[in-house]
Amino acid sequence: MPDDFLYARQRMVDDLARGYGIKNQRVLAAMGSVKRHLFVREHLRRQAYGDFALPSGSDQTISQPYVVARMTELLDVSADHVVLEIGTGTGYQTAILAELASRVYSLERIGSLARQAIARIRELGYQNVKIQTFDGTVGWGEVAPFDRILITAGAPAVPEPLFSQLGVGGVLVIPEGDRESQRLVKYRKLRAGGFQRSEGESVAFVPLVGRFGWREQS
Ligand code: SAH
Repeated sequence: MPDDFLYARQRMVDDLARGYGIKNQRVLAAMGSVKRHLFVREHLRRQAYGDFALPSGSDQTISQPYVVARMTELLDVSADHVVLEIGTGTGYQTAILAELASRVYSLERIGSLARQAIARIRELGYQNVKIQTFDGTVGWGEVAPFDRILITAGAPAVPEPLFSQLGVGGVLVIPEGDRESQRLVKYRKLRAGGFQRSEGESVAFVPLVGRFGWREQS
């Protein structure tokens, strides 16, 4: 099948590198190979490579390409890493991680989103991904520890179980702040105990809702 969106995708990658200063070549290569238009609904495909978030159904969103690239760069994934992602959504970020890591575990609290993401990921042929419907704020104890943990929903703070499920030397990236706006924060778990914390740019994610996150709003 011809790739109608190859040019649009290459332009997006160019923009990430030159406009936004994304430097990690593996991240840029992954952004260049995952077909983002396959993760949005048909009528939005022409906008899939634009520099903005898009609706993904159930009041949730697929993040802006730059935010996906930046978070992935901060996460610093190697080919031998086991990664936990919280907030599968469309599965787009999951696919980017699957290109870069050895195994990816991803949790999504909304069943219909998880089911669609599972179908897409399977269709695209990724063998190294497991997605489940579950409150990700409690983590995935059976398969812990993880080398990398990425939270793709806005949280008041890092859910405690995720800190414990991160391996020593591991990195966790999370949008931390209030319900409307957050900052990207990177934590590294230190051998001597404790964490090294660094703050990055402002972002606006949908809320992380769960036992160790925000309460559901009616
Ligand atoms: N990474 C996604 C976008 C994430 S949007 C993509 O590339 O498409 C945030 C997602 O987090 C939403 O789908 C939302 O339902 C999910 N979410 C919110 N709280 C959660 C929780 N406690 N556990 C798992 N998923 C959660």
